[in-house]
Amino acid sequence: MNVILLGPPGAGKGTQAKKLLADFGLPQVSTGDILRAEAKAGTELGRRAKELMDAGKLVPDEVVIGIVQKRLAEADAKNGVVLDGFPRTIPQAEALEGALSAIGKKVDRVLSFEVPAELVVERISGRRSCPQCGTIYHVTANPPKRMGYCDKDGTGLVQRSDDAEDKVRARMVEYEKNTAPLKAWYQRKGLLTVLDGVGTPEGIYAEVKKALGKS
Ligand code: AMP
Repeated sequence: MNVILLGPPGAGKGTQAKKLLADFGLPQVSTGDILRAEAKAGTELGRRAKELMDAGKLVPDEVVIGIVQKRLAEADAKNGVVLDGFPRTIPQAEALEGALSAIGKKVDRVLSFEVPAELVVERISGRRSCPQCGTIYHVTANPPKRMGYCDKDGTGLVQRSDDAEDKVRARMVEYEKNTAPLKAWYQRKGLLTVLDGVGTPEGIYAEVKKALGKS
């Protein structure tokens, strides 16, 4: 099953993707995570991407399309993936359709998480993550047991450089302009389920499973 998670920054896509991975073994394909890993490794691609990411701008379509094509060819993707943060533009969605159909696959469902703008800013400004294992926390809504450190491996938690409030606003503008039109695009294909992204991760996950026929 190939599932796309759509929604503004802070909608909970990463959190839900990790739950689907834990329960159903569906790998999370996050273009943001892949780009951040490239930036951390200091590759040429990573350096170019980091400038755009830090400005809250989208990385060019051909770059992220290439990344996803490569990722879909890996062995663990053969039974499906959860795409988190891709596609973000119509050309990306078209490229994904082509890449999947070339290997006899398709997008099975698109889940769009709806979250009001004020909540996006609040969620993101309190977001912290573990650079080691990727677990996501929130300083008040989902704090670690020991403030500042990951519950799972004790690594010091970090705030993403693009999670500062001005960057978040820029990312929301990009979302409305380039990514929100994908909802109508997938609606026309009969693939879209709109979900309320406000609530507890567990409550939202129950709706996710229902939408995927897995409850
Ligand atoms: P995310 O982790 O999904 O919030 O992505 C962080 C940043 O990575 C975005 O603000 C973009 O700069 C870049 N990025 C991630 N995925 C894409 C994509 N599909 N298309 C363009 N840029 C992307």
